[in-house]
This record gives sequence, structure tokens and C-alpha cells, in this order.
Amino acid sequence: MYLSIDFEDFNHDLKRSLGIWETGPLKPNLLWEKYNIINEIYKKNKSKEGKSGTFFCTGIIALNEPSLIKRISDDGHEIACHYNYHDVMNGKSDYEIENNLVKAKESLESASGQTIHGFRAPYFAIDKQNPKQYKLLEKYFTYDSSFICTTKKEVEIFRKQMNLKNLKILPIFQHKFAKLNCRLGGSYLKLFPYFYTNWMVNMSLENGFIPHIYLHPYEFGNSEKFQVSKNELKVLGRWKANFWYLRQKQWLKFRNDTLKFKLENLMSFNNLDGTLYNLSSLIN
Ligand SMILES: [Zn+2]
Repeated sequence: MYLSIDFEDFNHDLKRSLGIWETGPLKPNLLWEKYNIINEIYKKNKSKEGKSGTFFCTGIIALNEPSLIKRISDDGHEIACHYNYHDVMNGKSDYEIENNLVKAKESLESASGQTIHGFRAPYFAIDKQNPKQYKLLEKYFTYDSSFICTTKKEVEIFRKQMNLKNLKILPIFQHKFAKLNCRLGGSYLKLFPYFYTNWMVNMSLENGFIPHIYLHPYEFGNSEKFQVSKNELKVLGRWKANFWYLRQKQWLKFRNDTLKFKLENLMSFNNLDGTLYNLSSLIN
């Protein structure tokens, strides 16, 4: 089983996506706190190689808090790229995309001392209809983990559609559960009971994928310190401000206390196998 983390600053990124600011200070203390919790979980893995995993980090964390990226790297984890800002990539110009990929990669490499091989688009939102954005990924990365699917055949068809020669695709597994398209990670893992997680792991194996779970720092423990305050949301107008205030509770608090137990329980039956870069070297 593989575990990867989308290492991003929830507070900063939500304000940017809502147009409250373009950019501003991160919450470094909180990111350090969350990283330490996550690292402890990795270290509980029985085999040595699984004590390391993959952290898809935004470029701006590397730029503003390079010592944290260095620490993650020094602890043996793979640093991968989660774009420069936590932005949707669909609909953006090739120039803007390439510029941000290069910036992010440079900041992450300079902070970590590692060569960056992996990429995952924020919200998995990268153009999957037209090959242009994927061709740019191919120019800078060894593998991508932004494609979501249920079967191996879909990966094969997608690689052809994107006209990919070298870029490897490590997909996120998706399956229908109670008529919903569900994934092995994020809110699904947090909100649904343990048997769901276990069932998804088995479904993933049945479809020929080594189970791969993805999570975010704000899903570990109570994360209300990441919350964008009512006062900061005020500029959006009352209705929207109330909506986003409540919506954050789902991400930052609701059932967060169940995650660690589910993950550790799962890890007691399924060993973690290491970094996604290692996995990418095992596939064609
Ligand atoms: Zn993300």
C-alpha cells in the first residue's frame, strides 16, 4: 500500500481560491505541527522502506518555509510537486502553466536538495481533454498522479489520448460506493466508516492497482487553526461568508478524530511500500 500527502496550506489556499487575497503569509507553525503528526504515522510502518512516503508540496511552501521542506526530505520522504500555487490548471494558458511548473520545481529542488520527479495537480484539476498540459508535465516530470480511474485499461487509453511517451501515470483509484464515485483518500476516508476503507483497498487490488491513499495535513487531528475567520470572509457578502465558514468545519474538524485510527488499523494489515517514485520505476 502507498500513502501520499498533498502538502498544502489550507488557510492560504482557500483565501486565494475565494479571491480574498492573491497571496499572503502561510501558517508555518501549523504546517510543522501537522508534518510531525504525519511523520510519526509513517515511522510506525513495519518495513523500513514504508517509513518514507511522498509529499506533493506547493512551490510557495518551499519558497516561504524551505526549512520544512528540507526536514521532510531529510527524514527520507520524497518531495514531489503540487504546482506553485494551489490553483486549478484547467483553462490556463500554456505560458502560465509552464511558468508555474518551473517556479515550483525550482523552489522545491532548491529547498530539498532532491530532484523532483512527481506531480499532482491541485484538486486533480488539469486539462485531461487536450494533451497540451500533460505534454508540459512530461517535459519536467517522471510521473503524474492526477488521473482518476477504476481500471488499468483507462490508464492505457488516457496515455494514448495525451500522446505520452515517457510520463508515467500513477492514478488515484475510484469506485462506485452507495452510488457515489468514491476515492481512497481525502474526505472519503475521513467521513466514511472503516469498512469502507477496507472495501476500497480490496476493490483497488481486484482491479490490479496497489492500494494508494492520499491525504492532506488538515485532515490529521483538529485543524481549526487553519480556518479562514468570519471576519476575513466578510468581503464575500453575508450569505457566501456563512456558507464558507460552515463548509470549512467539514474539512477541518468533522470526523478528523477518526482518521488516525483508520489509517493505523489499515497499516497493521497492509504494509506501506515506500515512495511513489519507487512505484513509478516498477511500472512501464
Ligand atoms: Zn491539494
